[in-house]
Amino acid sequence: MKIVNSIQELKQILAGEKRENKRIGLVPTMGALHAGHLSLVKRCVAENDVCVVSVFVNPTQFNDKHDLETYPRTLEKDCALLETAGCHIVFAPTVEEMYPQPDTRTFDFGTVSNVMEGARRPGHFNGVAQIVSKLFYAVEPDNAYFGEKDFQQIAVIRALVKQLQLPVHIHACPILREADGLALSSRNTRLTPALRQKAPLIARTLKESITFAAGKSVQETIDYVVNTLNSDPDLRVEYYEIVDGNTLESIREWSDTDYAVGCITVYCGEVRLIDNIKY
Ligand code: AMP
Repeated sequence: MKIVNSIQELKQILAGEKRENKRIGLVPTMGALHAGHLSLVKRCVAENDVCVVSVFVNPTQFNDKHDLETYPRTLEKDCALLETAGCHIVFAPTVEEMYPQPDTRTFDFGTVSNVMEGARRPGHFNGVAQIVSKLFYAVEPDNAYFGEKDFQQIAVIRALVKQLQLPVHIHACPILREADGLALSSRNTRLTPALRQKAPLIARTLKESITFAAGKSVQETIDYVVNTLNSDPDLRVEYYEIVDGNTLESIREWSDTDYAVGCITVYCGEVRLIDNIKY
């Protein structure tokens, strides 16, 4: 496994691979890797000749400076995990390497980037689009892998690829969960033991809401999820929306779509957790 810090070196290595018609796969990450990330890496390794994993805490997608400063950085440990997962190239650039000058591009993807996370984290998806487009230009992958935990992010990436006409296939990978249902996340390490006990209620309630939804309206199902979670003093729902999984438009009736997805953000103490479920 090679660890590369510069775009120039990365391009040089990949040019050799491309000359031999090798399929290149990319998994973009911000590091602090866990089994959820590694499930994407394993799929990338299985479906490509060369697996590139980027590890870069992207400043432009953080709308909260404190969140950026405290984001866990564990490159050495990440590299050890990536090596065992079969990764071929770790791309770990500095901020100066990715942003030699400020990125002034503003993207407009309409609804997919304006609702839910887009409405609550101004600039977040613009920053995601900036860094992912730069990574796509640097790697020119055939395939790129993203986790469904960040459900809205995948819709934004698909819109980005369409808008920039990039020849990359986007693959959505299922959410990896702890045994108690909690979606794996780098932020879970910030939960105190007491809050860690509470956090699985999010996934459990979403799962139970599938049974609840039979014979109930969309609004009643939303109310059920929000009220159940908010009745715990340690949990505070920021939003729960049931949307069409492609357009991310909120649905009013179950018959509005055959691909309904419930997307939630909950504060567990001070830790902001996201999850989603398909109905
Ligand atoms: P991040 O480092 O948080 O930007 O995540 C990098 C990639 O890993 C994103 O595509 C995430 O959606 C994905 N990911 C994070 N957690 C999980 C999980 N529990 N299951 C599957 N994919 C995940």
